[in-house]
Amino acid sequence: MKFTGKNVLVTGASKGIGAEIAKNLASYGLKVWINYRSKIEEAEAVKEEIEKAGGTAAIIKADVSIEEEFINAIKTIVDSDGEISYLVNNAGITKDKLALRMSVEDFTDVINANLVSTFIGCRESLKTMSKKRFGAVVNISSIVGEMGNPGQTNYSASKGGVNTMTKSFAKEGASRNIRFNSVTPGFIKTDMTDLLKDEVKAEYEKNIPLSRFGNPSEIADAVAFLLSDHSSYITGEILKVNGGLYV
Ligand code: NAD
Repeated sequence: MKFTGKNVLVTGASKGIGAEIAKNLASYGLKVWINYRSKIEEAEAVKEEIEKAGGTAAIIKADVSIEEEFINAIKTIVDSDGEISYLVNNAGITKDKLALRMSVEDFTDVINANLVSTFIGCRESLKTMSKKRFGAVVNISSIVGEMGNPGQTNYSASKGGVNTMTKSFAKEGASRNIRFNSVTPGFIKTDMTDLLKDEVKAEYEKNIPLSRFGNPSEIADAVAFLLSDHSSYITGEILKVNGGLYV
């Protein structure tokens, strides 16, 4: 795949889907900034794997739901590389509970971690990418942001917000040649879905037309496409990668 840009920041990249996105983008020759919040050893393991495969990576600590930390992370990258070409807003959390038992704190924690962080990333990258009149951002949303899910009123609100916000950023960024798209994964095999009970997983699998959970690499491929030159006329798109579960 062909990329005009030279570097990328992937948030929450020390494990799961983020780690796979980081490794995949490094394989195309991009310098990858691996963001982590607390476990440096996991981020170092991803960096090591990238370097062993001949790629280039750096590690950057930030809790991306905290404005100052996310802004500083982007500033560090621009100071080091002279630019940030691509951003993947991948960091996210769940705090599932039926709405009747969900506190406002459970709700706002997830909104801050998933939606506010993505807003900060989009806004800051728009500012800095505007200087070069080039850039692309992919926001990792969720199928749940499209169809809703019991026990996930907070998460579905955050991811639904990411989808429509992506479209608004796409409209603001287009005149500066900066593209914003989102990917909505279905159920993907990571620690996040490991939290689900086996019977719940089996029930979901029954309803997925491709009859299985997805692999993180299948999300990473969609992200690479949406950042690459091959999608140069695609912006404001919400790309479903869900095995046909929601079409
Ligand atoms: P994961 O829990 O394995 O990894 C998430 C990563 O994000 C972790 O490393 C975590 O430390 C990091 N993170 C969370 N909040 C952060 C913050 N404020 N600052 C910095 N890092 C932070 O989860 P995953 O399954 O790999 O999920 C990645 C993304 O994909 C999330 O946005 C998630 O909502 C989305 N998603 C996952 C699935 C799935 O089935 N796994 C489905 C749809 C969408």
